[in-house]
Amino acid sequence: MPAINEKERSVLFYKRMILVVILLTITVLAVIAVVQGVQIHKIKLGNESRAAQNAEQAETIERQTKQLEEQMQELEELRRQKNELETLTQQQSERLAALEAQVAAAAATTSTTSAGGYQALYPDFYAPQTYSATSSPDNTAYLTFDDGPSGNTDIILQTLQEENVKATFFVVGTDNADNLARMRRIVQEGHTIGMHSYSHSYKKIYASVEAFLKDMYQVFNLIKDTTGVTPTCFRFPGGSINSYNKAVYKDIKAEMIRRGFVPYDWNVSSGDASTTKYTPEQLTGYVLNGIGSKSRIIVLMHDSSSKENTAQAVRQIIIGIREKGFIFAPLDYQTKPILF
Ligand SMILES: [Zn+2]
Repeated sequence: MPAINEKERSVLFYKRMILVVILLTITVLAVIAVVQGVQIHKIKLGNESRAAQNAEQAETIERQTKQLEEQMQELEELRRQKNELETLTQQQSERLAALEAQVAAAAATTSTTSAGGYQALYPDFYAPQTYSATSSPDNTAYLTFDDGPSGNTDIILQTLQEENVKATFFVVGTDNADNLARMRRIVQEGHTIGMHSYSHSYKKIYASVEAFLKDMYQVFNLIKDTTGVTPTCFRFPGGSINSYNKAVYKDIKAEMIRRGFVPYDWNVSSGDASTTKYTPEQLTGYVLNGIGSKSRIIVLMHDSSSKENTAQAVRQIIIGIREKGFIFAPLDYQTKPILF
């Protein structure tokens, strides 16, 4: 056995040392590598789970966003419905206001009618025919006499007979036997008898529609009972519009027309209404001058007891009108009225 010398022993020792160091290094490196590998794996795993969490969160956020969007849409829809409702409410309240106005108007009409209630009064106070006053022939003169009858009516009737003229008498109430006989004569001789009120009291008859109807109904019955003729026409005392009846004349006129009666004013006046001072010649002059270029004339005259001059003027008036080319006719229910 060869002796191992000192030098060889030392080399061997270093060789072993180096080997040990290398082995140790490898071992340490391997351990480090394993440890790091484990750590990396752990980190990887953590990352994966975080990614999964993130994905989940993203999904959640997306879902929530969607929900929010849906809620926003619902909100928008609600807002739209609210606006619609507001518009509808506005329209409904406008409609309601309009309806209320209509109801108020209807109530006003009803209360006027029922407050008056006059349409139901005197159910037999009607003309025998419905209102149809459309006849308006040219060159026609309608002589009318108000406030009679009286002694002057006899003179006038005599003249009319002699001149072969038919006229119209708007009579007032009377219980005098002679005047009642004159009413009958008016009818018998082919003239028209119309209503002029019973009392001829402006204050009384123009107090209300009811007051007017009550008074007119009285003269209506008087004429019917006395003459057998149902009157179809009337003349307002003072004319259809005067200072006493402004508040009621429209309602009176409408109600009388509803009952079939025809109202007549005039477009030529003899001037005998308010005075007795005019001579027959003056009265004739007023009538003839008043004709002007009119083609239909309704002439106002009076046959009450104080109007002798009118009775005396009638013949001249007839002659003068005739000379102007007119024919004469009595008013009947078809004669188109002349109204103020
Ligand atoms: Zn009168």
